[in-house]
Amino acid sequence: MYEMGREESKAVEKVILSKQLFRYRGGEGGECDRFESALCKKIGAKHSILVSGGTGALICGLVGIDIGPGDEVIVPAYTFMASPLSVVALGAVPVIAEVDESLLIDPADVEKKITRRTKAIMPVHMTGLPANMNALKKIARKHNLKIIEDACQAVGGSYKGRRLATIGDVGAFSFNQFKIIGCGEGGAVVTSQRSVFEKALIQHDGGCFSREHVLSTPIFCGWSYRVCELQGAIMRVQLRRLDRILANLRARKRAMFAELAGSDRYAMSPVNCTKGDCGVVTAIKFESEALMRAAQKALHVRGIPSGSPIDSGIHVYSRWSPILQKRASSHPGRDAYKLTGQRYRYSKTMCPRTTAILSSTLTFGTSYSESVAENRRRVAKARKIIERM
Ligand SMILES: *Cc1c(COP(=O)(O)O)cnc(C)c1O
Repeated sequence: MYEMGREESKAVEKVILSKQLFRYRGGEGGECDRFESALCKKIGAKHSILVSGGTGALICGLVGIDIGPGDEVIVPAYTFMASPLSVVALGAVPVIAEVDESLLIDPADVEKKITRRTKAIMPVHMTGLPANMNALKKIARKHNLKIIEDACQAVGGSYKGRRLATIGDVGAFSFNQFKIIGCGEGGAVVTSQRSVFEKALIQHDGGCFSREHVLSTPIFCGWSYRVCELQGAIMRVQLRRLDRILANLRARKRAMFAELAGSDRYAMSPVNCTKGDCGVVTAIKFESEALMRAAQKALHVRGIPSGSPIDSGIHVYSRWSPILQKRASSHPGRDAYKLTGQRYRYSKTMCPRTTAILSSTLTFGTSYSESVAENRRRVAKARKIIERM
């Protein structure tokens, strides 16, 4: 969330004074409905559902593409733990694939991890960087797999002219506090396939059976990931801010990238689609973790903030304890790892290439509150310090 202010508070006040906070009032055209239409129009999707969070959006999306016990879904080793958690929530097993230098899922490793049980691939557009969708789509077509895009961190981003979350069969956004636009907690499922949408809709609101007449999908017992009109009202304002937010982020990143490029001390981490990148971080890669740490320390001493993806806690697979320990559920009868005849082995060292790439990478976050020139100057100083090391 980069911007939030008077417009959102006015929109919330209007909903409160209307005393109409529940979104399904027996009519159409409320805040949530209007947000969903606007989101679809903005990104070019046929259907969307505003839900309570990004994890809920992933779960509803996975329901939409029929994921369940016995299925495997391939996820990257570098993503927020919610990506694999959404898979085990449905009794399926996340299979962890390496990331490549772009810090995103490596299509070559995805192909190696495919088995008879693989049902879907979940590319994650981490930090707003677009995954290599062309390569992934080719693999999905060849092996008859579904694609669910985790675009939680990449609202508005695109890949070769198409918006992220609309390239695969279904996509998920998060609107929590830390994402590009947000309302505290929230998310959205997007798809252009009617049957995927209907299944996700039923999953998102078990009370949906009352609208059975508008559904062609046979009804089943859903859960609740519903939101109220307050979130819808905030998100409508946030969506109007999206273009400007992305333009600001991208202008800053372009300047930072240009300033950092061309050094012989490190390489620029490759970006799969520069134009579609949201511009949240600029990453550089050293030849070793030792060099990355030395650079980080030198920058820290001079007061220049930087980070490394290896230090991002539960965004790194080796920190996914409940997954690595295969504790998929509080109840053994619902445990994904017990619902399959298959033995799965995880370890903290199972994706050594990911660990090596993440630990030799240094990132500079885009500072939204600082000007393009200030962002440029900060990394220019960083480059000088690194080159004097
Ligand atoms: C934030 C995030 C999620 C989960 O979103 P919540 O809204 O926190 O449930 C899932 N995947 C990724 C990559 C995320 O960054």
